[in-house]
Amino acid sequence: MSAHTPQFDLVIIGGGLVGHALLAALTPLYSQGARIALLESTAEPDQQQIVGYSPAFDDRSTAISAGSIQMLQKWGLWAGLRDYAEAIRHIQISEKGGPATAELHAEDHQPALGYVIPNRALGTALLSQSRKLPVTLKFSTTVEQLQFQPECVVLKTQQQEEMTARLVIVAEGGRSELKSKLGIQEQQLHFHQHAIIANVAHQQAHQNWAYERFSESGPLAMLPLTMQQHRSVSALVWSVDEQQVDELMALPASTFLARLQQQFGGRLGMLNDISDRFNYPLVRTYTPEQVRSRLVLLGNSAVSLHPVAGQGLNLALRAVSSLAQTLIQQPLPQLGQLTPLLQYQQRIHQDQLWVMEFCDKLVQGFSLPGLKPVRALGLGMLDHHTIAKELFSRYAMGLAGGQLHENTL
Ligand SMILES: Cc1cc2nc3c(=O)[nH]c(=O)nc-3n(C[C@H](O)[C@H](O)[C@H](O)COP(=O)(O)OP(=O)(O)OC[C@H]3O[C@@H](n4cnc5c(N)ncnc54)[C@H](O)[C@@H]3O)c2cc1C
Repeated sequence: MSAHTPQFDLVIIGGGLVGHALLAALTPLYSQGARIALLESTAEPDQQQIVGYSPAFDDRSTAISAGSIQMLQKWGLWAGLRDYAEAIRHIQISEKGGPATAELHAEDHQPALGYVIPNRALGTALLSQSRKLPVTLKFSTTVEQLQFQPECVVLKTQQQEEMTARLVIVAEGGRSELKSKLGIQEQQLHFHQHAIIANVAHQQAHQNWAYERFSESGPLAMLPLTMQQHRSVSALVWSVDEQQVDELMALPASTFLARLQQQFGGRLGMLNDISDRFNYPLVRTYTPEQVRSRLVLLGNSAVSLHPVAGQGLNLALRAVSSLAQTLIQQPLPQLGQLTPLLQYQQRIHQDQLWVMEFCDKLVQGFSLPGLKPVRALGLGMLDHHTIAKELFSRYAMGLAGGQLHENTL
């Protein structure tokens, strides 16, 4: 380390959705003169090339809960997203071949249960907000090593650069190499499924309905999107058995649509067109140790979920909000001290466990054929039981960690 080594108060490693969201949430720190950097492995995108810049700024769409929208508004991001966001006002949960369905509806006074936003729009809004902030954004920069010293962390990059930070936030995504280099263990649950995603055009307007359908091959979500070229379109997230994925990906579009229609039924009329398909292996990971002195793991590096209930980013944004609140309250020289970081982890702990258990149980509960009658009963009860419905829709809206929200927003 030399006298010219750049020194930062805080460095975020990883410019995915979560890394950029934290930059936006830290806005009150900038007026205190905080020196903050975000380092991202991939090359800097031009305005048109956002897809492919970060793994998550792809053709996927994300269901954003009503609670997350409040945070995006607070962080000044919602104005750039509103035009791309489609409201979810109704959710139908059903099982193929099962008699019962459950439905959730936004109350008359509520604008929506949540919104669906293409990741490309999310990525563009977050990146353009970050570009306006007084922070250092470094692209084509992969952090390879972290050395912990009493007063700072020394970061070393693949590109032979060196810098120091009082506090490092690892937001590297699900395959976090730094985490394993630091000897931090994660718990993994393999679902032996892949998620196939695509945009599907259909004959009938979606009328702001989102569908969660438990098909023979795995859970299938169709989420309402804004009109595309005067066509009504929904975002498909179809979790399929790992043995099936290659065959389904290789099918011609028309055959794939016919297979999808068979599982989804006629809820949206004929499914008549589909975009390119992409697929992702599904593993749930949970890292019990998410903070150390001068270190925080955030986003998928801390917890990554099965996308069945669209909760991964929503959960991460609640952690972003809580962490930002912690950091904003500290004098800059004290950033990285362990006690406030442990208090932060304690605050988000229960929320993570609840959401993780909810998603795991949903996938496992709907994967066992022997449980079909119980599921039918469960869906029937959910449809008629006001308290269960209220609880389920609070999860769907990302408000299940309500206590946390009220304290951190
Ligand atoms: C199919 C699918 C559907 C989903 N749908 C939803 C949904 O509807 N609702 C919802 O809430 N969530 C959803 N999610 C989850 C959501 O996409 C993730 O929670 C979110 O993308 C996590 O963002 P992240 O920033 O933590 O990680 P990532 O998006 O993986 O970003 C990590 C970034 O770090 C960079 N990086 C990695 N290593 C380094 C390094 N050493 N140095 C520098 N940079 C590095 C990478 O290039 C990348 O840009 C879905 C996920 C999937 C797979």
